[in-house]
Amino acid sequence: MKIIKLLSLILGSLYLLGCTASKEISVNSRESWQAAKPKPFTQHVPERITIHHEGTIFEKSGDAPKHIKNVQTWGMGKDRNWTDIPYHFLIDPNGNVYEGRNVFTVGETATEYDPTGHLLITCMGNFEEQEIGEEQLEALINLTAYCCKKYQISPETIASHKDYSKQTVCPGKNLYKFIENGYIQSEVIKRLKDGD
Ligand SMILES: [Zn+2]
Repeated sequence: MKIIKLLSLILGSLYLLGCTASKEISVNSRESWQAAKPKPFTQHVPERITIHHEGTIFEKSGDAPKHIKNVQTWGMGKDRNWTDIPYHFLIDPNGNVYEGRNVFTVGETATEYDPTGHLLITCMGNFEEQEIGEEQLEALINLTAYCCKKYQISPETIASHKDYSKQTVCPGKNLYKFIENGYIQSEVIKRLKDGD
């Protein structure tokens, strides 16, 4: 009897641990990458998830906060004159998530689509040339599920930059395949159900 009770307790806590793991998301703040203050911005309500790659080859050993800061500095400079870093969230190859621009501000793009209403998540790296690792893909799924829940966005809206633009291969074929075959969407839906 005692053993059965003990077993059920252990199984119960394992189950709880599993649930917590799927829901938990830790986002590194803008301070973690020493973000500059944004310029005045246009507001919007995010209603779809759009996945990007950052486009620069980036390895696990790279200094993610430093790279993110450089992207912001370049984007806000004379080349682009953007109001802030273009994306709402960034994920490094180790699966760490970083806060980008305010979610309620319109993102930026160097191509022809209008990102109003799009919540932009970028994976650091170039997946036309690199393979996406398990940690980064897993973090992308968890973050997308978190955003769907928090901002009441349907997982049906999950798409990528190149679904809206003919001028880009972003997020690269090695990441796009997981969008195209429905893997990311079905994993997000699973996690949303687990989180109820
Ligand atoms: Zn893109």
